[in-house]
Amino acid sequence: MPHHADRPTKDCMVCGRPFQWRKKWKDVWDDVRYCSDRCRNNRNQKSAQES
Ligand SMILES: [Zn+2]
Repeated sequence: MPHHADRPTKDCMVCGRPFQWRKKWKDVWDDVRYCSDRCRNNRNQKSAQES
């Protein structure tokens, strides 16, 4: 059994990786779709990488 199994997870809409509930999202968890600000900023760019 993994640790912190009690925390919910979602799959990021951009990178597709599962991410775990964070305290900062406690009030907006239903609306969270991205694992990070980076993915949120990339939401219209689907796996396109700019450098
Ligand atoms: Zn992501």
